[in-house]
Amino acid sequence: HVIVCKAHKICVLPGDGIGPEIMSVATKALTAAGQKEGEEFEYMYELIGGAAIDATGSPLPDKTLATAKASDAVLLAAIGGYKWDSYPNEIRPEKGLLKIRSELNAFANLRPAIVPKQEVFSSCQKNRRTSDVIFIEWLVERIARVAFEAARKRNKRLCSVEKSNVLEVSQLWKEVVTKLGKDYPDVELTHMYVDNAAMQLVRNPKYFDVVVTSNLFGDILSDEASMLAGSLGMLPSASISGDGPGIYEPVHGSAPDIAGQDIANPMAMMLSAAMMCRYDLDCPKVSDRLEAAVSQVLDEGLRTGDIFKEGYPNTRKVKCSELSEHLLRIVSA
Ligand code: ATP
Ligand code: MG
Repeated sequence: HVIVCKAHKICVLPGDGIGPEIMSVATKALTAAGQKEGEEFEYMYELIGGAAIDATGSPLPDKTLATAKASDAVLLAAIGGYKWDSYPNEIRPEKGLLKIRSELNAFANLRPAIVPKQEVFSSCQKNRRTSDVIFIEWLVERIARVAFEAARKRNKRLCSVEKSNVLEVSQLWKEVVTKLGKDYPDVELTHMYVDNAAMQLVRNPKYFDVVVTSNLFGDILSDEASMLAGSLGMLPSASISGDGPGIYEPVHGSAPDIAGQDIANPMAMMLSAAMMCRYDLDCPKVSDRLEAAVSQVLDEGLRTGDIFKEGYPNTRKVKCSELSEHLLRIVSA
């Protein structure tokens, strides 16, 4: 017998700030998990953001885009930093991110928030390019469809968040989502105004399963939800188009204030790699293994500074490198 094992081609974009530190943890963990589960990953490293501006003058060099398009999935850490803050608009690090998202047509942004004890909140945003003020029917339908499909794969509950009692544009949002709901009779659809949702998220997070909302509301609610998870350092995200490679990246930014100090939390990055395995690469066992390792280091009481609370029993503050050693040990077990 000849077993042909095709490696998954990953376009790896470490970016700036803490990006390279956390990316190295994620790729090591991915390789180790793959070895246990019979999956191989091939990494194609490219530049994006500030690092790319310094090397080539562009935040998204053509070579990076070509590699991304030829890949099975894009794994991105974070971009930006103080150094480039004063650069002219066209050569700002964020431009690289916006451009790669639009070039790959990654219009849906999935943000699961894993609350201790596996509670999950997920928000699908519209692409940043489309304004929050104007909703176009097919665009709303497109994002809502991603959300209904996500709900179907989970607990069949979807909450649509808008502000239709005050914002006229929200009425179209609600109409379109409600209409599409007829195609998903198995999914329980509820509607909530965004201010109430912000409150309920704190009061009773377990009420939510999948949440669909527009860009601005989604940005605010997912930052709020990050506090349920403990820290921005715990939250992965996926930007997907449905076909073609998706972009998998932590919700947090490049955290230049802590870059190079070995104190960053690598778990959002690792969980982003896990999402990539689940959504794009069809290797759920690798994904399970990565997620289980995160769960287990938390159970073992290991905490990076962002999730460490003084006086909390059976926990210990560790550096990024020590946490990573433990993650790798568990992934390889
Ligand atoms: P962006 O505009 O790219 O979203 P931001 O301005 O929101 O960036 P972040 O880079 O996300 O900022 O950082 C916000 C704060 O959270 C910073 O104090 C940073 O140090 C902290 N932080 C972000 N990510 C992590 C992480 N992985 N581990 C520890 N702390 C983090
Ligand atoms: Mg931010």
